[in-house]
This record gives sequence, structure tokens and C-alpha cells, in this order.
Amino acid sequence: MTDFAPRHLGPDDDAVARMLEVVGYPSLDAMVDAVVPESIRRREPLALTPVPDESAALARVRALADRNTVVTSLIGGGYYGTVTPNVILRNVLENPAWYTAYTPYQPEISQGRLEALLNFQTMVAELTGLDLANASLLDEATAAAEAMTLARRRSKVAGATFFVDAECHPQVIEVVETRAEPLGIKVVAGDPHTDLGAHEVFGVLLAYPGTHGGVADHRATAAAAKEAGAVVCATADLLALTLLTPPGEWGADVVVGSAQRFGVPMGYGGPHAGFMAVSDDLKRSLPGRLVGVSVDAQGDRALRLALQTREQHIRREKATSNICTAQVLLAVMAAMYATYHGPDGLRAIADRVQRLTAAARGALVANGFRTTADTFFDTVTLRVPGDADRIVAAALAEGLNLRRVSADEVGFSLDETTTPEVVVRLLAAFGIAATVDELDLGAPSGLPAALRRTGDVLTHPTFHRYHSETEMMRYLRRLADMDLALDRTMIPLGSCTMKLNAAAEMIPITWPEFAHLHPFAPADQAAGYRQLVDELEAALVEITGYDAVSFQPNAGSQGELAGLLAIRAYHRDRGDTSREVCLIPDSAHGTNAASAVMAGMRVVVVGTDDHGNVDMDDLRAKVDEHGDRVAAVMVTYPSTHGVFEEGIVELCRIVHDAGGQVYVDGANLNALVGLARPGDFGADVSHLNLHKTFCIPHGGGGPGVGPVAVRSHLAPYLPGHRLFPTHPDSGAPGPNGGVGAVSAAPFGSAVILPIPWMYVTMMGDRLQRATELAILSANYVAARLSPHYPVLYTGSHGLVAHECILDLRPIEKATGITNEDVAKRLIDHGFHAPTMSFPVPGTLMVEPTESESLAELDRFCDAMIEIKGEIDRVGAGEWPADDNPLVNAPHTAPVVGGDDWDHPYPRSLAGWPGGRPGHDGVEWKYWPPVGRIDGGYGDRNLVCSCPPVEDLAE
Ligand SMILES: *Cc1c(COP(=O)(O)O)cnc(C)c1O
Repeated sequence: MTDFAPRHLGPDDDAVARMLEVVGYPSLDAMVDAVVPESIRRREPLALTPVPDESAALARVRALADRNTVVTSLIGGGYYGTVTPNVILRNVLENPAWYTAYTPYQPEISQGRLEALLNFQTMVAELTGLDLANASLLDEATAAAEAMTLARRRSKVAGATFFVDAECHPQVIEVVETRAEPLGIKVVAGDPHTDLGAHEVFGVLLAYPGTHGGVADHRATAAAAKEAGAVVCATADLLALTLLTPPGEWGADVVVGSAQRFGVPMGYGGPHAGFMAVSDDLKRSLPGRLVGVSVDAQGDRALRLALQTREQHIRREKATSNICTAQVLLAVMAAMYATYHGPDGLRAIADRVQRLTAAARGALVANGFRTTADTFFDTVTLRVPGDADRIVAAALAEGLNLRRVSADEVGFSLDETTTPEVVVRLLAAFGIAATVDELDLGAPSGLPAALRRTGDVLTHPTFHRYHSETEMMRYLRRLADMDLALDRTMIPLGSCTMKLNAAAEMIPITWPEFAHLHPFAPADQAAGYRQLVDELEAALVEITGYDAVSFQPNAGSQGELAGLLAIRAYHRDRGDTSREVCLIPDSAHGTNAASAVMAGMRVVVVGTDDHGNVDMDDLRAKVDEHGDRVAAVMVTYPSTHGVFEEGIVELCRIVHDAGGQVYVDGANLNALVGLARPGDFGADVSHLNLHKTFCIPHGGGGPGVGPVAVRSHLAPYLPGHRLFPTHPDSGAPGPNGGVGAVSAAPFGSAVILPIPWMYVTMMGDRLQRATELAILSANYVAARLSPHYPVLYTGSHGLVAHECILDLRPIEKATGITNEDVAKRLIDHGFHAPTMSFPVPGTLMVEPTESESLAELDRFCDAMIEIKGEIDRVGAGEWPADDNPLVNAPHTAPVVGGDDWDHPYPRSLAGWPGGRPGHDGVEWKYWPPVGRIDGGYGDRNLVCSCPPVEDLAE
């Protein structure tokens, strides 16, 4: 019997007592009373009862899983059955070395996942026939919306019309429309081959293949659109592209889609890796993260994120996109799927799918059924006037879900998991009796002859080396070993809340009853999911004090957009159409400003006072200045400066009095749970980061879930979904509201919702203790480090919230040693650096979370103190400013063990700053695979796919 809370919480009672002594408080309660302003403090315990132990929680979630029904799904529409190779399932998806890593901002400790992502980019670029691809977007629909805004930025056509092929998946069209409206973009959906000429468009989105199955020849259309100045975008299916002429060859400038069917289960809608590939001339407009090749201090090849200056955290309201957390873990899986199968294996899978489709279609046509298209890859739509419901029901009796297109049309999509026996059952649903032997597997291909792919694809050796399980297992191990994730060290990243992702929380996500549901499956097949969603919603309502929650947004950034769209719709419904100003403090996360712009708002920046608080005088002045144009204020609480601002209630009142709404960025909820509720202290809406506070692992940069929680007056404006209009049980509206869909799937990244559900179920009201220990740990670190590094901001009692900012700027001024040098030197100690230069340039922000033991906190503090000692030696002139263990960090094994050593400090200090393994309590040593990386070099010489073999040979 394992009670979960004592396992989730790092410090035990003894440790808590010792930490309190250092922080200077007699009890946890006394410390919390001092930290959290009385004006927002909630004294009732959370009404959440924990289960006795992990097994009880697993039994409960098992019962929910049992309420789901796995039916072989032929619904298609962007989601397909796929076989996750077991070697990838076990060594990536179920492996904390991969799933607990953070976004590779510290590239020296991230070479493994960066290589996996480079494989992903190479795979996408080659299959789409374009020059470069990014390292994943959130899903196909949001990727299509990003393509639209990219086209808008780059096209010379002045008009604001974007043309969408009506053959795009319905959810793609819906999300594009949601995102177009606040930007003043008009979306026209139609048949591009006949209707496009009638419109002056800045961009066009073509479907390849179409949602109903046809494989259109877009060459002439693309050429004409380009001639007229439009940017040509396309949605494409990666599996089909192994057989089809790539869009890059027929004129597409941008290709988007989903990598789901490359080994990532449907998961009732997500998470999966969306992708975007572009031609070379668009590379600087590409949204999202891009992995590129650069060199390290020794001149060796090293990977890191490229062109960072495009991103929201730098460009803020001028950013190309608000995307932050993406879908790294799923991109890694898709890339490894392609690596494992290789080009021949992928082609064989595609070929088999299309043969089975041809056989099914052939039998249907031979029996007098009519199809809507002459061409096909894996999808066929049939005209069955008035008969659709009967056929769908007959298929269900055969254990198959078909796609009901309308009362007169049904469709099916086959996939990697389809067997001839499934085709026989499919035909039976149409009243056709056939046996497996009677299927005509030699039926003619449905791919147009003019669009057959020629030439090799995925020729890089990486896609040919790892086809045996032994080789793949070792490749995955080798890459994982290059990286530092939570399975080896605390990751004290401020604002990112890198806490325990417990095994019990992760276990349910690979159960077939959660993993193998199609997002558009009939509601009664997903009853367990709906109960899980409802229970999680109820828990979050209790925790936040809000009234309703939408789980559709698949990252914090998308929750921000959804929340701001709700505010916008609310004002408009009340006739308040001129409210377009969003007040945002200068300390805000970059996504806030970028999201506000995407929601059609104008960002007005509010200053910060000397204590790091929102400058209330400036706020009042800005509110007065913009008056009834104020739509909202967007603040993070506790602030990104790691402080519970006393003025929050007053801030809410000022903005409400002016008729604006209050958006509280809930990324810091880990400091609030059980102690205060944004819904009580005046906020109207928040997004929560379930991948921070609620234990969904960061996956190396995603997946995430960014549910948006609102008070009741905003509930009607939560995201909707056209394909999911009503609640299956009550008939009440489903995830349906006033602003349309913000993600492709109705419940976003549904398959990872069991993680927060398990966390909340196992912790219950002890979530409050987690919050208190998170605050205690931050204050303990601050207390131990403040004699060595100035702590930038504290609240009125000299305490911080759940994170603290160490100010390296005075140290840099005195010694030349930067926050980056400290971050890199921590790698020699085996640590992941804290957050660098956010929210204040030149600082490090430390967030230890409640899950770290006192021993690990001390290991970190000891390393930081030892580093300060080294800084002092540089400051004292003992070591030159340009040759010391800090500026040369991190030290690789070849450097430390090489034959040349002419530095003024010993090798042992370079390589084993905390003492040698086996000595001084140090049990292991992490060697970074590369030295300090020169990011600028890589940006000047941009390479974003696997480098040619000749280069490797050098
Ligand atoms: C992490 C974070 C976000 C963005 O969340 P994503 O899931 O990465 O999109 C927004 N605001 C703050 C304060 C954050 O820490």
C-alpha cells in the first residue's frame, strides 16, 4: 500500500522542521500566513477527498476506462489507427528520460532530444518536398491557422481574404475561422479549382488528400494562385506522401498536417505532433521552435534551437505566433517511427493501406455503390441517399465506426491496423458478403498517375540504421543518455514547475480504452472519458473558485487565446465593441502579449514598481487613458517576479470599475492551490498549465494542456466544436460555445487528462500541503543563497512565493561572469540551469517545487555556493576573465581528459567541481556531449535537417 502524498512531497516532517529553521519561522502555518496576503487567503480546506493509496486511484481510473468502448475506428478525418512500435512505446513514451525532460533551451544537456527533433524536421521536410520544417506545432488545425497568418505576413496581396479548400477536415476549417475572425481575416471555403479565381486572396489552403478521400491535382491551381500573389499552403497526410508527389514539387510554399499516424495513438484527439514545412524564403517567418545545427566551443557539431529571436518570448506582441509549449514527445515518437521503419517500411505500410482501400472500394463499386471521388489513398466516401444512418448502425454491429458525412453520405478510412478481415466486416455493413480470399488486393490504385512520387526519400543514414529492435533500443538509450531530465536531477526552472510526474499518474494513458478512441467516435463509446473530464472539471472548479472549465486548449498559450476570445465575445455581446485594449505588465510571459494580438486586442504595457509589483499608479493612469476601450488586464499571480502582490484585489477592482475583465495567467497556480482562489479574489478567467501544476510531464517541450477556467458570465464563450454539439448524457451543450474551436479535437489532448485526474485523486486536500512545501522550498533556497546572490524581489515579510529570482547583474558588473556562465557551470555539477533572463534579463529564476527532497535542494544550493566561490576568484583576479571554469563551462569528457590542458585551474576542478564520484557524497557524473554552443554561428549558417553524410565524415 503506497499512500501517494508522502511520495510526491520531497521533504518529510524532519526536513520541513530544518528548512523552517533556516527560513526563520516556527511553523509552516506561520510562514504561509506571512507569505500569502490575508486579503486573498482562503481558510477552508479543499473539498477534495484523497483515495487511500495509489492502487485505489488506479482502480478508480480503471473503472472509468472500462466505461469507454474501443471500437475499430474507420472515421478518419485526420485521426487514424496506428501501431506504436513497442520499442518506442517502452523506451520513449513510458521512459522518464524522455518524458520528464524540458524544452531544450539549455542545448548542451539536450543533444539527444534535439537530434530526435532534427530527425522529425528532416522527415517532414523531405516528405512534404519543402526546404525546412519546424520541430512541431500543436495539431493540424492550429498549424493551418498558423499557415494562414504566415501567408498574411508574407503575401503582397493587400486584401484580407484567405481561401480554404472545402476538402480540408472540418475541424481544420473551424479553427482557421476561429483564428481569422479577431484578425479581420475573411475565410472563404470552397472548391479551389472552380471558385478560387473569383476571389482576391492573400493565401490559399489546399487539401491533399481531401477529407472525403479524393486526391486532387492542385498543380494548375497552385500556379494560378501564386501568379496572383497568394501564398500557397496545403494540408497533407504524411503516410500518403510516401506515395504521392510532394506538395513542395507542385507549388506549395507551406505544408501543414499531423504526424499522428506515425505511431502516436489517437488518444480521443491528442496529443499529437502538428507539423509545418516551408520553402527557404519563408524560414524567418516560420512559427514555433526550429532545431538547427551549430558548433560548440571546440568547433564540433552541436544542435540547438535556431532563430530564437522570432519567438514570442523575445518579440512579444510582434511575435509570429504565441506558441510556446509544443508537442515534442509526440514529434520524437513520430520521428522514431519513421526511423524504425525507414522509407521502404513506410512505403510498404502506405501501399498496404491503399491496396486494402482499393479492394474495399472495388467491391463496393462492383455492387453498385457510387463514390464521391474517383481518386483515393485511404479514404472513400459513398453516396447512399437516405441510408447513411442505417449503414453506420450496421457497421457498428460489425464492430466498426464509419464516418457519417450526412444523411446521404458515409465514409471510411483504412489505416496501418486494418486487416483484410476488417474489410470483410466493412463490406458486410453495406450488405456485401465476401471472404478474405475474395478481396481483390490487386485492384487498381486510386492515386492519380500524374501524382506518383518518384525519387528517393529519407535517404539519410539515420533512416536506415535502426531497423532492428536492438539497434533502435540502443539508439534511444544513447540519445536519452545525452540529456538531463527529471529522472537524474532537479530542474529548478522558474515558471515551469518541474515537479514529479509520478508513474501511477502515467500508467493509464497507454491503456487501450484511453489510447485508442477516435475523437469523433459516438459519445456513448466515450462515457468514461466524459466522466473523467467532468470530475477533473469539478476538482479544478473547487481549486480555482471559477465556475466552468474547457479542456480544449492544448497548451497554456492556447488557453490564453481561448480566455481572451471569451472576454472579447462577452464585451461584443453586450454591445461593447470598442473594447480592444489589453493591459499587460512588462514582466509578463511573452505568450500573453502574443495571445492578446491574436485575439484582436491592442497591447498596452503597464510598468513595474521598484519592488517588482505592478505599478498601480501606472495602471490607474493607463485605465484612465483608455477608459471604455479597456477590454482586459492580463496579470500572472503570484507574479512572475515570484511575489504575492498585495495589490491584486485592488487591481481587479480598478479594471472592473472601468468595465474591463481580469485575466489571471494561472501558470503559477502551484503557489495558490489550497491557499487562495483566483475566482474568489476578483479574476474572471485563467488558463491553467496542467503540465506545470498538475503533473503532466513536459515531454522535452510538450505535450501540455492549458484548460481555460472562467466565472459563469464567461462560460457561454468557452471554445466549442462543430463536430460535437451536445453533451452525450444530458443533451446539454457539449464543449460548445460562442467562439468556435481553438483546437482540432473537442477535448484537446484528452489522453493525458488521466494524469492530472490521478494527481488530484491521490492528493485530495493534501494539495494544500504541496503548495506550502513548494513555497517553503523556494524560501529555503532563497535563504541559503541570498548571502551569495542577491534575491531580486521579496514580499513584505522578506519572503518569496514559490520561486525566487537571483540577480546576477551586480555580479556581472563586478566580475564579467554572466547568468549564462553560471547556468553552464551548473551542467558540470550535473544540474539543469534555472530559468535564464525571464522575467528579468541577467537573472536566474529558481523554482524548486514541492517534490524535491532536502538533500537535492542542498545539493543544488551547495553547487550554487561553490560556483559563487569561483566567481569570487575571477573577481579577485586569480583567474583571467576569459579563462576560468565558468566561461569555459560546460567541460566535456574529451576536454577534461584530453592531452592538452593549459588552463589556470586543474582538470579535476573542471570535470568534478562537486568532488569526484564516490567522494563527498557525489554518486554519479554527467558529461555533457558538447561544449558551450555558439548559437549565432548556427543562425548565420542555418541548417535545420540532418547534415549530409559527407559533413559527418569530416
Ligand atoms: C509556461 C507559461 C506560459 C505558457 O504556457 P505554454 O503551455 O508553454 O504555452 C504562460 N505564462 C506563464 C507565466 C508561463 O510560465
